[in-house]
Amino acid sequence: MSILIFADQAQGKIKKAALEAIQYGAKTAAQTGTTATALVLGPVDAAELTALGNYGVQKVLHVADARLHEVETIVFTKIIAAAAEKEGAKVIVFPHNFDGKAIAPRLAARLKAGLVAGAISYPDTSNGFVVKKSVFSGKAFANVNITSDIKIISLIPNTFPLTPGSETATVEAFSPAISDGDFKVKVIKTETVSGDIPLTEAEIVVSGGRGLKGPENWGILEDLAKALGAATASSRPVADAGWRPHHEHVGQTGLTVRPNLYVAIGISGAIQHLAGVNGSKVIVVINKDPEAPFFKAADYGIVGDAFEIVPKLTEAVKQFKQ
Ligand code: FAD
Repeated sequence: MSILIFADQAQGKIKKAALEAIQYGAKTAAQTGTTATALVLGPVDAAELTALGNYGVQKVLHVADARLHEVETIVFTKIIAAAAEKEGAKVIVFPHNFDGKAIAPRLAARLKAGLVAGAISYPDTSNGFVVKKSVFSGKAFANVNITSDIKIISLIPNTFPLTPGSETATVEAFSPAISDGDFKVKVIKTETVSGDIPLTEAEIVVSGGRGLKGPENWGILEDLAKALGAATASSRPVADAGWRPHHEHVGQTGLTVRPNLYVAIGISGAIQHLAGVNGSKVIVVINKDPEAPFFKAADYGIVGDAFEIVPKLTEAVKQFKQ
């Protein structure tokens, strides 16, 4: 049994969620006495590939084909299946990001493999192959025993911190048979829709709700986010009202985030919002209503007017960083 990890890249740089998946796959391989190989598709520099050894893989399979610079789920599924067969992989790990969410289920169907989508634990192999995931919008956990021959896991980003070492991996070129006809979807244009830090990968997220009263007041939130090096997010009504773009909306019907720090400003803490953020390691809530439900989920709460508190917090962060 070997372990294959799909490591997605953007503009030639391996994504942070993919590095976490590599580290997870490598640790699982060590735990089960097997080897781990990362699979990278598209043009990526050799130095970037060998550096993946820092996260525990001995080998990187690289398909350098320039047509793979954008993710095309149908072709990617075909290539990952071919790589899994070549490596004799019995466990395949994905990051649970947009790419992993799109490809892992397709691959599972193709390989008739069991899939745990959104894993938050290492497999427990003491009695089967049991992986934990959160269910019912984070209200409960399920321990899923994958009994199929091939097992697929997608790992929620920010679940395990990266602890890079100083190893280098061997890079092996891989040339699966793919033709132009395999590409069913053509990417016409790519637009960057978030700020400097992708929301799902951010370690700190500063998020605003209807308590901020209108889009013209988002400056105070953005100043705090900039001081903290954070990504910005919002509640759904804020996006529905057009105050902020929909790709920033977190919750049951939006993105799920698991940052180390989630700062909620003027958000009531409805269950549908919590569903997308309650995996955050530390939650700070700023709300003028001491009865706001969000305080029950908070690690730290500040009762007061956001318009007074947030600028002071930003100043304090700037002072602290000097
Ligand atoms: P409000 O509920 O209006 O809360 C505003 C808060 O700001 C209040 O707590 C208030 O005390 C506080 N406040 C006001 N002024 C200040 C001030 N000056 N300083 C500090 N605090 C202040 N919501 C999501 O967010 N994400 C989802 O994915 C989502 N999916 C949903 C799916 C379904 C099927 C349904 C039915 C609802 C969904 N919702 C979702 C909506 C959700 O139920 C809540 O209505 C929403 O989260 C509330 O947004 P809010 O907290 O920004 O606004």
